Amino acid sequence: MSANLINGNEISKAVNAETAAEVAEIVAKYGVRPALAVILVGEDPASQVYVSRKDKKCAELGIRSEKIVLPADTTEAELLAIIAKLNADPSIHGILVQSPVPKQIDEQKVVLAIDPAKDVDCFHPFNVGRMMLGDFSGFLPCTPWGVTVLLERSGVVTRGKNAVVLGRSNIVGKPMAAMLAAKAPFGDATVTVCHSHTRDLAAVTLQADIIVAALGIPRFLKGDQVKEGAVIIDVGINRIPDPTAKNGCRLVGDVDFDSVVEKASLITPVPGGVGPMTIAMLMKNTLRACRAALKTA
Ligand code: NAD
Repeated sequence: MSANLINGNEISKAVNAETAAEVAEIVAKYGVRPALAVILVGEDPASQVYVSRKDKKCAELGIRSEKIVLPADTTEAELLAIIAKLNADPSIHGILVQSPVPKQIDEQKVVLAIDPAKDVDCFHPFNVGRMMLGDFSGFLPCTPWGVTVLLERSGVVTRGKNAVVLGRSNIVGKPMAAMLAAKAPFGDATVTVCHSHTRDLAAVTLQADIIVAALGIPRFLKGDQVKEGAVIIDVGINRIPDPTAKNGCRLVGDVDFDSVVEKASLITPVPGGVGPMTIAMLMKNTLRACRAALKTA
Protein backbone atom coordinates (compact mmCIF):
# COMPACT_ATOMS: atom_id res chain seq x y z
CA MET A 1 0.00 0.00 0.00
CA SER A 2 1.19 3.52 -0.72
CA ALA A 3 -0.52 6.15 1.42
CA ASN A 4 -2.62 9.10 0.37
CA LEU A 5 -1.44 12.46 1.66
CA ILE A 6 -3.38 14.47 4.21
CA ASN A 7 -2.97 17.94 2.79
CA GLY A 8 -2.55 20.36 5.69
CA ASN A 9 -2.16 23.31 3.33
CA GLU A 10 -5.60 22.68 1.77
CA ILE A 11 -7.37 21.87 5.04
CA SER A 12 -5.88 24.89 6.83
CA LYS A 13 -6.96 27.07 3.90
CA ALA A 14 -10.56 25.94 4.42
CA VAL A 15 -10.34 26.53 8.20
CA ASN A 16 -8.81 29.97 7.63
CA ALA A 17 -11.55 30.90 5.16
CA GLU A 18 -14.15 30.06 7.83
CA THR A 19 -12.27 32.16 10.37
CA ALA A 20 -11.99 35.12 7.97
CA ALA A 21 -15.75 34.98 7.33
CA GLU A 22 -16.47 34.95 11.09
CA VAL A 23 -14.05 37.84 11.66
CA ALA A 24 -15.83 39.89 8.98
CA GLU A 25 -19.18 39.09 10.60
CA ILE A 26 -17.97 40.23 14.05
CA VAL A 27 -16.54 43.45 12.63
CA ALA A 28 -19.79 44.18 10.75
CA LYS A 29 -22.09 43.31 13.65
CA TYR A 30 -20.19 44.69 16.66
CA GLY A 31 -17.67 47.11 15.18
CA VAL A 32 -14.93 45.18 17.01
CA ARG A 33 -11.91 43.65 15.32
CA PRO A 34 -10.41 40.53 16.96
CA ALA A 35 -6.86 41.37 18.04
CA LEU A 36 -3.83 39.28 18.92
CA ALA A 37 -0.71 40.57 20.69
CA VAL A 38 2.41 38.55 19.88
CA ILE A 39 5.49 39.16 22.01
CA LEU A 40 8.93 38.14 20.83
CA VAL A 41 11.84 38.44 23.24
CA GLY A 42 15.27 38.22 21.61
CA GLU A 43 16.41 37.38 18.11
CA ASP A 44 16.09 33.62 17.78
CA PRO A 45 15.81 33.16 13.96
CA ALA A 46 13.24 30.33 14.11
CA SER A 47 11.09 32.37 16.54
CA GLN A 48 11.32 35.40 14.23
CA VAL A 49 9.98 33.24 11.37
CA TYR A 50 7.12 31.85 13.52
CA VAL A 51 6.14 35.33 14.74
CA SER A 52 6.14 36.86 11.27
CA ARG A 53 4.01 33.93 9.98
CA LYS A 54 1.45 34.57 12.73
CA ASP A 55 1.51 38.29 11.97
CA LYS A 56 0.94 37.63 8.27
CA LYS A 57 -1.87 35.15 8.91
CA CYS A 58 -3.65 37.67 11.16
CA ALA A 59 -3.49 40.27 8.38
CA GLU A 60 -4.84 37.77 5.83
CA LEU A 61 -7.83 36.90 8.03
CA GLY A 62 -8.67 40.45 9.12
CA ILE A 63 -7.39 39.97 12.68
CA ARG A 64 -5.47 42.91 14.11
CA SER A 65 -2.00 41.86 15.15
CA GLU A 66 0.13 43.80 17.58
CA LYS A 67 3.70 42.60 17.32
CA ILE A 68 5.89 43.54 20.28
CA VAL A 69 9.61 42.87 19.80
CA LEU A 70 11.75 43.13 22.92
CA PRO A 71 15.55 42.97 23.27
CA ALA A 72 17.17 39.70 24.40
CA ASP A 73 18.19 41.27 27.74
CA THR A 74 14.59 42.13 28.71
CA THR A 75 14.07 41.29 32.38
CA GLU A 76 11.30 39.06 33.67
CA ALA A 77 9.76 42.04 35.49
CA GLU A 78 9.72 44.11 32.30
CA LEU A 79 8.02 41.32 30.35
CA LEU A 80 5.47 40.71 33.12
CA ALA A 81 4.66 44.44 33.19
CA ILE A 82 3.96 44.41 29.43
CA ILE A 83 1.72 41.34 29.84
CA ALA A 84 -0.17 43.08 32.68
CA LYS A 85 -0.80 46.07 30.41
CA LEU A 86 -2.08 43.83 27.61
CA ASN A 87 -4.26 41.93 30.10
CA ALA A 88 -5.91 45.23 31.05
CA ASP A 89 -6.38 46.42 27.45
CA PRO A 90 -9.93 45.54 26.29
CA SER A 91 -8.98 46.03 22.62
CA ILE A 92 -6.57 43.04 22.85
CA HIS A 93 -8.30 39.63 22.88
CA GLY A 94 -5.37 37.22 22.69
CA ILE A 95 -1.81 37.32 24.04
CA LEU A 96 1.00 35.04 23.00
CA VAL A 97 4.63 35.03 24.11
CA GLN A 98 6.77 33.22 21.56
CA SER A 99 8.68 30.33 23.09
CA PRO A 100 11.52 29.94 23.99
CA VAL A 101 12.17 33.05 26.08
CA PRO A 102 15.74 34.00 27.13
CA LYS A 103 17.05 32.13 30.17
CA GLN A 104 16.70 35.05 32.63
CA ILE A 105 12.91 34.72 32.23
CA ASP A 106 10.92 31.94 33.90
CA GLU A 107 8.59 30.64 31.18
CA GLN A 108 6.13 29.22 33.72
CA LYS A 109 5.73 32.65 35.35
CA VAL A 110 4.95 34.07 31.92
CA VAL A 111 2.31 31.41 31.29
CA LEU A 112 0.69 32.15 34.67
CA ALA A 113 0.80 35.92 34.09
CA ILE A 114 -1.35 35.84 30.96
CA ASP A 115 -5.05 36.35 31.71
CA PRO A 116 -6.64 32.90 31.08
CA ALA A 117 -9.32 34.72 29.02
CA LYS A 118 -6.55 35.85 26.61
CA ASP A 119 -4.43 32.67 26.68
CA VAL A 120 -4.80 31.74 23.00
CA ASP A 121 -1.92 29.24 23.16
CA CYS A 122 -3.95 27.31 25.77
CA PHE A 123 -0.94 26.95 28.08
CA HIS A 124 -2.49 28.34 31.29
CA PRO A 125 -3.43 25.65 33.85
CA PHE A 126 -7.01 26.99 33.91
CA ASN A 127 -7.45 26.34 30.19
CA VAL A 128 -5.51 23.06 30.23
CA GLY A 129 -7.67 21.89 33.16
CA ARG A 130 -10.89 22.98 31.49
CA MET A 131 -9.96 21.00 28.38
CA MET A 132 -8.90 17.95 30.45
CA LEU A 133 -12.30 18.04 32.20
CA GLY A 134 -14.01 17.74 28.83
CA ASP A 135 -15.07 21.32 28.11
CA PHE A 136 -13.96 21.93 24.54
CA SER A 137 -15.81 25.22 24.10
CA GLY A 138 -12.91 27.37 25.34
CA PHE A 139 -9.35 27.54 24.09
CA LEU A 140 -7.82 24.33 22.79
CA PRO A 141 -4.10 23.58 22.40
CA CYS A 142 -3.33 24.65 18.84
CA THR A 143 -1.23 21.76 17.51
CA PRO A 144 -3.31 18.88 18.94
CA TRP A 145 -6.51 20.67 17.92
CA GLY A 146 -5.08 21.02 14.41
CA VAL A 147 -4.37 17.28 14.34
CA THR A 148 -7.97 16.46 15.31
CA VAL A 149 -9.24 18.74 12.52
CA LEU A 150 -6.91 17.05 10.00
CA LEU A 151 -8.27 13.64 11.05
CA GLU A 152 -11.92 14.73 11.01
CA ARG A 153 -11.69 16.46 7.64
CA SER A 154 -9.87 13.48 6.13
CA GLY A 155 -12.75 11.22 7.19
CA VAL A 156 -10.73 9.33 9.81
CA VAL A 157 -12.97 7.87 12.50
CA THR A 158 -11.19 7.81 15.86
CA ARG A 159 -13.96 6.13 17.91
CA GLY A 160 -12.85 2.71 19.15
CA LYS A 161 -9.50 2.92 17.33
CA ASN A 162 -6.09 2.26 18.84
CA ALA A 163 -4.22 5.56 18.81
CA VAL A 164 -0.59 5.88 19.83
CA VAL A 165 0.98 9.24 20.67
CA LEU A 166 4.77 9.37 20.55
CA GLY A 167 5.93 12.07 22.99
CA ARG A 168 4.46 13.46 26.21
CA SER A 169 5.28 17.17 26.07
CA ASN A 170 2.89 19.67 27.63
CA ILE A 171 2.21 21.41 24.33
CA VAL A 172 1.76 18.41 22.05
CA GLY A 173 1.91 14.86 23.43
CA LYS A 174 -0.13 15.19 26.64
CA PRO A 175 -3.00 17.31 25.29
CA MET A 176 -3.03 15.21 22.10
CA ALA A 177 -3.53 12.03 24.09
CA ALA A 178 -6.25 13.70 26.19
CA MET A 179 -8.15 14.89 23.11
CA LEU A 180 -7.99 11.53 21.34
CA ALA A 181 -9.24 9.77 24.48
CA ALA A 182 -11.95 12.34 25.23
CA LYS A 183 -15.65 11.70 24.99
CA ALA A 184 -15.96 13.87 21.91
CA PRO A 185 -16.46 13.58 18.14
CA PHE A 186 -12.68 13.76 17.66
CA GLY A 187 -11.95 11.32 20.49
CA ASP A 188 -13.25 8.02 21.86
CA ALA A 189 -10.00 6.30 20.86
CA THR A 190 -8.04 3.89 23.05
CA VAL A 191 -4.85 5.86 23.55
CA THR A 192 -1.33 4.79 24.47
CA VAL A 193 1.39 7.36 25.12
CA CYS A 194 4.99 6.39 24.36
CA HIS A 195 7.99 8.36 25.61
CA SER A 196 11.73 8.10 26.13
CA HIS A 197 11.30 5.28 28.71
CA THR A 198 8.94 3.13 26.65
CA ARG A 199 10.17 -0.43 26.30
CA ASP A 200 9.68 -2.12 22.92
CA LEU A 201 8.05 0.83 21.21
CA ALA A 202 7.48 -1.13 17.99
CA ALA A 203 5.29 -3.65 19.85
CA VAL A 204 3.01 -0.72 20.74
CA THR A 205 3.08 1.13 17.42
CA LEU A 206 2.40 -2.07 15.44
CA GLN A 207 -1.01 -2.25 17.19
CA ALA A 208 -1.90 1.33 16.28
CA ASP A 209 -4.60 2.36 13.83
CA ILE A 210 -3.51 5.99 14.27
CA ILE A 211 -0.04 7.24 15.23
CA VAL A 212 0.77 10.84 16.13
CA ALA A 213 4.54 11.36 16.21
CA ALA A 214 5.78 14.31 18.30
CA LEU A 215 9.23 13.51 19.65
CA GLY A 216 11.54 15.93 17.89
CA ILE A 217 13.78 13.17 16.48
CA PRO A 218 14.26 13.34 12.70
CA ARG A 219 12.68 10.38 10.82
CA PHE A 220 12.33 8.35 14.04
CA LEU A 221 9.32 6.19 13.13
CA LYS A 222 10.16 3.61 10.46
CA GLY A 223 7.94 1.57 8.13
CA ASP A 224 8.61 -1.70 9.96
CA GLN A 225 7.14 -0.15 13.15
CA VAL A 226 3.83 0.61 11.46
CA LYS A 227 0.82 -1.60 10.81
CA GLU A 228 -0.44 -1.91 7.24
CA GLY A 229 -3.15 0.72 6.65
CA ALA A 230 -2.39 2.90 9.70
CA VAL A 231 -3.03 6.65 9.67
CA ILE A 232 0.15 8.60 10.40
CA ILE A 233 0.28 12.18 11.66
CA ASP A 234 3.76 13.69 11.76
CA VAL A 235 4.01 16.68 14.11
CA GLY A 236 7.81 16.86 13.98
CA ILE A 237 9.67 19.79 12.49
CA ASN A 238 13.40 19.11 12.30
CA ARG A 239 16.02 20.96 10.29
CA ILE A 240 18.66 18.59 8.90
CA PRO A 241 21.73 19.38 6.77
CA ASP A 242 21.20 19.02 3.03
CA PRO A 243 24.08 20.12 0.81
CA THR A 244 21.77 20.03 -2.24
CA ALA A 245 19.42 22.62 -0.73
CA LYS A 246 19.89 26.35 -1.37
CA ASN A 247 20.28 27.21 2.33
CA GLY A 248 22.14 23.98 3.16
CA CYS A 249 19.33 22.37 5.14
CA ARG A 250 15.80 21.04 4.82
CA LEU A 251 12.85 20.19 7.01
CA VAL A 252 11.92 16.62 7.91
CA GLY A 253 9.40 15.25 10.36
CA ASP A 254 9.62 12.65 13.12
CA VAL A 255 8.45 10.01 10.63
CA ASP A 256 10.67 8.33 8.05
CA PHE A 257 8.30 9.30 5.27
CA ASP A 258 9.80 7.08 2.53
CA SER A 259 9.42 3.81 4.43
CA VAL A 260 6.18 4.67 6.29
CA VAL A 261 4.35 5.87 3.16
CA GLU A 262 4.50 2.27 1.87
CA LYS A 263 2.57 0.96 4.89
CA ALA A 264 0.18 3.74 5.84
CA SER A 265 -3.25 4.49 4.37
CA LEU A 266 -2.99 8.22 5.09
CA ILE A 267 0.02 10.31 6.08
CA THR A 268 0.82 13.98 6.64
CA PRO A 269 3.84 15.41 4.82
CA VAL A 270 6.43 17.73 6.40
CA PRO A 271 6.19 20.53 5.52
CA GLY A 272 2.54 21.03 4.55
CA GLY A 273 0.90 18.78 7.14
CA VAL A 274 0.42 19.74 10.78
CA GLY A 275 2.42 23.02 10.62
CA PRO A 276 -0.16 25.20 8.83
CA MET A 277 -2.92 23.79 11.07
CA THR A 278 -1.22 25.05 14.24
CA ILE A 279 -1.45 28.66 13.04
CA ALA A 280 -5.00 28.14 11.74
CA MET A 281 -6.12 26.95 15.19
CA LEU A 282 -4.32 29.86 16.88
CA MET A 283 -6.46 32.17 14.74
CA LYS A 284 -9.57 30.21 15.81
CA ASN A 285 -8.61 30.61 19.48
CA THR A 286 -8.21 34.36 18.92
CA LEU A 287 -11.70 34.43 17.46
CA ARG A 288 -13.01 32.49 20.48
CA ALA A 289 -11.29 34.99 22.79
CA CYS A 290 -12.98 37.88 21.00
CA ARG A 291 -16.38 36.16 21.01
CA ALA A 292 -16.08 35.43 24.72
CA ALA A 293 -15.16 39.08 25.40
CA LEU A 294 -18.23 40.16 23.41
CA LYS A 295 -20.28 37.41 25.07
CA THR A 296 -21.36 36.07 21.66
CA ALA A 297 -19.84 32.62 22.14
P1 NAD B 1 9.60 17.93 23.36
O1 NAD B 1 11.06 17.87 23.11
O2 NAD B 1 9.05 18.87 24.38
O3 NAD B 1 9.08 16.48 23.74
C1 NAD B 1 9.56 15.33 23.09
C2 NAD B 1 8.91 14.12 23.70
O4 NAD B 1 9.36 12.99 23.00
C3 NAD B 1 9.24 13.91 25.17
O5 NAD B 1 8.03 13.74 25.87
C4 NAD B 1 10.05 12.61 25.20
O6 NAD B 1 9.71 11.76 26.29
C5 NAD B 1 9.63 11.94 23.90
N1 NAD B 1 10.72 11.09 23.39
C6 NAD B 1 12.01 11.44 23.25
N2 NAD B 1 12.70 10.37 22.77
C7 NAD B 1 11.82 9.37 22.62
C8 NAD B 1 11.93 8.03 22.16
N3 NAD B 1 13.10 7.52 21.79
N4 NAD B 1 10.83 7.28 22.13
C9 NAD B 1 9.63 7.77 22.51
N5 NAD B 1 9.47 9.04 22.94
C10 NAD B 1 10.55 9.83 23.01
O7 NAD B 1 8.95 18.17 21.92
P2 NAD B 1 7.57 18.87 21.47
O8 NAD B 1 7.57 20.29 21.83
O9 NAD B 1 6.39 18.03 21.82
O10 NAD B 1 7.79 18.78 19.89
C11 NAD B 1 7.93 17.54 19.23
C12 NAD B 1 8.18 17.79 17.77
O11 NAD B 1 7.06 18.48 17.23
C13 NAD B 1 9.38 18.68 17.48
O12 NAD B 1 9.96 18.26 16.27
C14 NAD B 1 8.78 20.07 17.30
O13 NAD B 1 9.55 20.89 16.47
C15 NAD B 1 7.47 19.70 16.64
N6 NAD B 1 6.39 20.66 16.83
C16 NAD B 1 5.68 20.97 15.74
C17 NAD B 1 4.59 21.82 15.82
C18 NAD B 1 3.81 22.12 14.59
O14 NAD B 1 3.09 23.09 14.55
N7 NAD B 1 3.92 21.26 13.56
C19 NAD B 1 4.24 22.38 17.05
C20 NAD B 1 4.97 22.01 18.19
C21 NAD B 1 6.04 21.14 18.06
